[in-house]
Amino acid sequence: MNAADDKTIVQDYFNSTGFDRWRRIYGDGEVNKVQLDIRNGHQQTVDTVISWLKADDNLINLSICDAGCGVGSLSIPLAQAGAKVYANDISEKMVGEAKDRSKEVLGNNHNLTFAVQDLESLSGKYHTVICLDVLIHYPQEKAAEMINHLSSLSESRLIISFAPKTLCLSLLKKIGSFFPGPSKTTRAYLHREVDIVKILESCGFSLERKAMTKTRFYFSRILEATRKTA
Ligand code: SAM
Repeated sequence: MNAADDKTIVQDYFNSTGFDRWRRIYGDGEVNKVQLDIRNGHQQTVDTVISWLKADDNLINLSICDAGCGVGSLSIPLAQAGAKVYANDISEKMVGEAKDRSKEVLGNNHNLTFAVQDLESLSGKYHTVICLDVLIHYPQEKAAEMINHLSSLSESRLIISFAPKTLCLSLLKKIGSFFPGPSKTTRAYLHREVDIVKILESCGFSLERKAMTKTRFYFSRILEATRKTA
């Protein structure tokens, strides 16, 4: 399968069955036990990133690009905290839902702008570029291209999360415990942390902070990298 196919499949998925599934997981209504576990894990990832950004005490007026924003789980609280957020996603449905949620929470807050856009077509410069739980949908070579592009948009900092390729997760994936159930998602790709760090370094970034979210069915390694100064 080529990379263009990967992208079309992911886009179609998040405009159809994936939209229904993830809107529920990223919401607060009733869900099954597995979905609840994923919801809680994902919330921990979002909370970790928000805590990093808030700890720096400069969130107000920071420009942030949330690439693959989903339903706005990160973008909305960041805009609420005063950051200028450019939220975008390849799925029209996810962006539509994010806009609805944003209206409910923020009203007509001008800190948050949305676009339906493939992250590789994004342009402009942002202080911080964030891309959470998107790389899981893409193989290694594609992930490298995406990180390369995201780094070109970032003036100062890049925060990304991905499902790490560890022995334990590879085994879980093999026996189907990772994303359990019949074909509930598109293919899930695990990435080796050393490979991602190498890509970040080749883009001129060095690792600043890292964290790991691990629940029963949700695994996400979060890396914060900052632009190396000469
Ligand atoms: N980042 C969000 C979060 O953590 O709440 C959403 C994560 S969700 C698992 C993955 C999202 O990535 C989906 O909304 C999907 O449409 C989006 N996505 C996948 N490939 C993309 C691409 N090439 N460009 C932009 N968004 C993409």
